[in-house]
Amino acid sequence: MDFSLKQIAELLQNSSTIIITAHVHPDGDCLGSMLALNEYLTSRGKSVKMVLDDEVPALYNFLPGYEAIGKPTTKIISSDLLVVLDASDIERIGKVKEHVNAPILNIDHHISNTKFADYWYINSQSAATGEIILELLRLLNAKMTPTIATCLYTAIATDCGFFRYANTSVQTMRYAADLMEYGANPNSISEYMETKPLESILTLAKVLETLELHHHGKIATITVSPDTLESLDSTEGFINYPRIIEGVEIAIMFKIMNEGTIRISFRSKTVDVSRLAFSFGGGGHIRAAGCAIIGKIEEVKKRVLDSAIKQLAETLL
Ligand code: 5GP
Ligand code: MN
Ligand code: MN
Repeated sequence: MDFSLKQIAELLQNSSTIIITAHVHPDGDCLGSMLALNEYLTSRGKSVKMVLDDEVPALYNFLPGYEAIGKPTTKIISSDLLVVLDASDIERIGKVKEHVNAPILNIDHHISNTKFADYWYINSQSAATGEIILELLRLLNAKMTPTIATCLYTAIATDCGFFRYANTSVQTMRYAADLMEYGANPNSISEYMETKPLESILTLAKVLETLELHHHGKIATITVSPDTLESLDSTEGFINYPRIIEGVEIAIMFKIMNEGTIRISFRSKTVDVSRLAFSFGGGGHIRAAGCAIIGKIEEVKKRVLDSAIKQLAETLL
């Protein structure tokens, strides 16, 4: 059921036990949104649990409260509500879907959202789920603490490439300024996120050696091997390098996972890569999307490149 923000506020007010989750391979938006909502609901006396079917990358260990995020177990737990943040389809929450028995509320900003929940609020104009959480907390007259501000600033800033990507709106900028007033410190958040162990920079150099250009330089790919993935906390930001090459329209990162799956990230300047990702069972936004395909890297790469070339030809007609 399509809900207004006001109806969502009421739904939360009427629920006493709430579980919050978000998508696997967590990013700043899903973690920041989870933690901010948890902070508010807990302060209202709700019994709240955060579960995520993945590790929180060390990169986000500066976010206040992240230690409280637990993993799903095989035990089935019930609650009044399961809030699914920043996830466009049910598969994105991994094992949490079997672990929790509760009506689902989905708050999201992906254009590819499949409307899988019992109740949903989806705004694809929002640069981040964090923007929607800020609007929701305001509607609930929440006290904006520095913890909430830090989490929501991180959520918003990471999803719009620290205010550089096309999804950055006037509203995004205003929200960021408001969050600074509530106690977020953009400089220290950027420092935390940018600071990397030496090993990670040396690994990035190795990954960049896999750079290939295709289709007259309009498509750039990088490939991350299983060994490389093992030695890394996160590949966050790697896709930016092929993306910023002059003449590149679509950047693609192939991550060869141990279990025979290839995880793929797409970034684009004009082409709608959410459609591309969706055609392979994934999803995302117009200019940033992803999917996972089971298969051998060479075969998967060929299929994805063929589709990307087709999509490029259709867009640039
Ligand atoms: P990233 O490349 O940073 O992992 O993801 C870019 C965007 O695409 C994010 O908004 C993310 O939620 C979405 N995305 C990435 N992988 C998948 C996937 O396998 N399925 C769906 N539905 N969305 C994805
Ligand atoms: Mn996300
Ligand atoms: Mn997001």
